[in-house]
Amino acid sequence: VDSLAELGRLLADVELSCSCCLQHFTEPVRLASCSHSFCRPCIAAYCRGRQRATCPLCREGFELKDLRPNRELAALVSLVCFVFQLLK
Ligand SMILES: [Zn+2]
Ligand SMILES: [Zn+2]
Repeated sequence: VDSLAELGRLLADVELSCSCCLQHFTEPVRLASCSHSFCRPCIAAYCRGRQRATCPLCREGFELKDLRPNRELAALVSLVCFVFQLLK
């Protein structure tokens, strides 16, 4: 059994894409109010020029200053990218 390929298959199912840009998260941040995660640049661009910051997915309001880096997600994205590199 090729365990690396197996790992790659498992990781391919993990949701690691930002719903704004549909790419792997860059600098993922989590919204404190609804726990949805987005790339920091995506959520910043989405909220620019709006009176009230809201989640692009569920419209829950949030404070830009309350954005928390989602380190677990960032680590997972790096791991997945690393494994996919190895599989190439
Ligand atoms: Zn994004
Ligand atoms: Zn949300």
